[in-house]
Amino acid sequence: RIVHLNGAWVAEAEAKVSVFDRGFLFADAIYEVTAVIGGKLIDYAGHVARLKRSLDALGIPAPVSDETLLSLHREIMARNDLTEGLIYLQISRGAEDRDFLFSSDLAPTFVMFTQKKPVLGNPKWESGISVITWPEGRWVNRQIKTVQLLYSSLAKMEAKKAGADDVFLVEDGLVTEASSANAHIVTAGGVLVTRPLSNALLHGITRGSVLDLAARAGLAVEERAFSPEEAKGAAEAFITSASAFVMPVVAIDGKPVGDGRPGPVSRRLREIYIEDRLASAI
Ligand code: PMP
Repeated sequence: RIVHLNGAWVAEAEAKVSVFDRGFLFADAIYEVTAVIGGKLIDYAGHVARLKRSLDALGIPAPVSDETLLSLHREIMARNDLTEGLIYLQISRGAEDRDFLFSSDLAPTFVMFTQKKPVLGNPKWESGISVITWPEGRWVNRQIKTVQLLYSSLAKMEAKKAGADDVFLVEDGLVTEASSANAHIVTAGGVLVTRPLSNALLHGITRGSVLDLAARAGLAVEERAFSPEEAKGAAEAFITSASAFVMPVVAIDGKPVGDGRPGPVSRRLREIYIEDRLASAI
């Protein structure tokens, strides 16, 4: 792969970042992941808007203009023949001698790379995924998309150990989200229930798009937190993310959700999301 590093195009084996980079030493960095289908960027505007919010929250200056950022996305697709997959970008505060206090004038470290994978043809769509409930243990500013992903990574390993695909993280008896996706349920009455935005969860771009599309399709949407017990008794459950789109959750802690197969609302939302986002991809 050819990766982008601070304005240069470099073979992946040659791309090097300082051991003093604050992203490496302090997880002082933010990131974004954007899906690519047919050589086009899905939900790009939302990802850029959130990128800016994350940078603002940490006081890291934007390394490039909006125009340059979009052209870098196009160039990295072209240089890597990426027609379907993901574009990962990360911006850290930069490098200086290790100290909890940091200088205000550091030059950010800006990295981008691609991952080829079948995002549309993900075979898990047909079967759905299973999750286990797991205690929430991340820091409290989960609305900022930082690279502090250790807790989520360990939690997902626990899911794998238990024979499941992912976790529903639980705080004060309520589901926050999955390890790297937002969590949703559909009640027996057909209402889409999802936790409202707060610092308890990442403000998923896919979540926002799916809620808009669901409302437009006439589905009742209720933004409130739900418990693991409510999720287990729900008609359907699903997660949303840039890489999984709408992914049905068919079992929680080993118990089937609904009839244990992807439900009609999840399927419909997945279809609507893909159709709409492909039409508006850039
Ligand atoms: N929550 C968390 C913790 C995530 O890491 C992600 C994906 N990065 C999401 C939700 C989904 O966000 P998006 O739809 O913007 O990919």
